[in-house]
Amino acid sequence: MSFIETRGNDGIKPNEVEFSYAILNPSASFGGLYIPKSLPNLGEDFIESHKNKSYKELAFDILTAFKVDIEENDLQTALNLYDNFDDKSNPSPVVKVKENLFVNEQYHGPTRAFKDMALQPFGSILSAIAKKRNEKYLILAATSGDTGPAALNTFKNKEGIKVACLYPVGGTSDVQRLQMVTEDGENLKVIGINGNFDDAQNALKNLLASETFKTTLGEKHTKLSAANSVNFGRIIFQIVYHFWSYIELLRQNEIENGEKIYLTVPSGNFGNALGGYYAKKMGLPVEKILITSNENNVLTSWINDGVYDLNDKTLVLTKSPAMDILKSSNIERIMYDMFGSDRTKELMEDLNSKNSFVLSIDEKAKLQSEFSATFSDDTYGLKTIKNYLEDGYLMDPHTATCIKAYETLMDKPLKNVVYSTAEWTKFSPSVLNALNDDSMKYKDIDALKIISDKYNIKVPTMIQNVFDAKVRHTVEINIDDLEKEIVSFI
Ligand SMILES: *Cc1c(COP(=O)(O)O)cnc(C)c1O
Repeated sequence: MSFIETRGNDGIKPNEVEFSYAILNPSASFGGLYIPKSLPNLGEDFIESHKNKSYKELAFDILTAFKVDIEENDLQTALNLYDNFDDKSNPSPVVKVKENLFVNEQYHGPTRAFKDMALQPFGSILSAIAKKRNEKYLILAATSGDTGPAALNTFKNKEGIKVACLYPVGGTSDVQRLQMVTEDGENLKVIGINGNFDDAQNALKNLLASETFKTTLGEKHTKLSAANSVNFGRIIFQIVYHFWSYIELLRQNEIENGEKIYLTVPSGNFGNALGGYYAKKMGLPVEKILITSNENNVLTSWINDGVYDLNDKTLVLTKSPAMDILKSSNIERIMYDMFGSDRTKELMEDLNSKNSFVLSIDEKAKLQSEFSATFSDDTYGLKTIKNYLEDGYLMDPHTATCIKAYETLMDKPLKNVVYSTAEWTKFSPSVLNALNDDSMKYKDIDALKIISDKYNIKVPTMIQNVFDAKVRHTVEINIDDLEKEIVSFI
């Protein structure tokens, strides 16, 4: 199947590309993104025939339906990485929590956040094709805390790949920082930036645009690629688990095949939600996709008001930092799908020049036929964590935003699958604030122990181990020194 571009073609880049091209060169004409030219149709029969299949078989069949140009054994090797999750027969289990409320726990992989669901197999495939082509790639990543550990984990010691990962000093949890700075692998470079996440992300963008940097990379025969969710190689794996949620409900006799369900997605860059949208278009019986945000609620206004306006907006730091975002990349793919490439280019150019865009009444109605949205502030989120733990279910602050959607956005009494994107262990100080109703600054190591002792909940070994692991990356620099630092690494 071929891939085309959200903002149309500039006459310089190829008109249509294969999957491998799109993932190695993720930036498309006019600053756009790659999208599939069409979607495979996988409705009730496909779902029925996968009731007794494993997660890996489901993923294999979905990727095959997209006709990706990846050799079968490379695909199998990539999917075998799901065997390293807590339960290899069920890498993202769906748990019933309340009447009509189910949680798909997406954090059972090596770095305890949902980024592993896609980055594990994606990293394996990207390095397999780079190796076959005898090419060298530098992957740049800026992280607010979850993408970094997941990208380092998947690419460590992969031939032909180097990763430079930037994180804001003081801007991540202790666990997230330790996951990065203790990761070993000759091909990894972790760099603390003096500044916030926006500064790190801007520094990365400037580097991507720097001519001297490109020349230097060229001299070292190294190409650039990206591991964030602008890369369709991540999105394709994010379609799979939405099918899995539905099949799990079928297996648990909670629904009949064909019965519609809600999906609730705590959103930032909108990759997770986009995967759900594609799954729905491919035939998954979904009533609506419910989108939750924190106080950085740009997505709420995009869906509820048809307005995306960054003027006078400043990023608020919340207890759900992975959703602290103002520019959400993957909404562009939704707008392409609904409004076409000319209109998408126009809207995205408005966003660049005026810092805002406004949808027409018809466009807004179309968006609202697929999505509903709300947001939750920290007070609501922390109260939710406490209330649900009293009933025996522990969730992290990102997952907690979804409960607002469960409580306020469902028009029909259908089953709702909420996505739990991180394990509580990555955000234990905030969870302890919720349980104690205080605002103390706990250390991760203390909060983990207090919660696990009091509630008799085990902390997984990979989290315990980061506190004793050897620190391998100590570089903390100012943004001006970034280019020099990365050049000396490659
Ligand atoms: C990345 C992340 C999100 C946001 O996911 P998107 O696909 O970018 O919308 C939500 N929660 C957690 C814990 C994350 O790491």
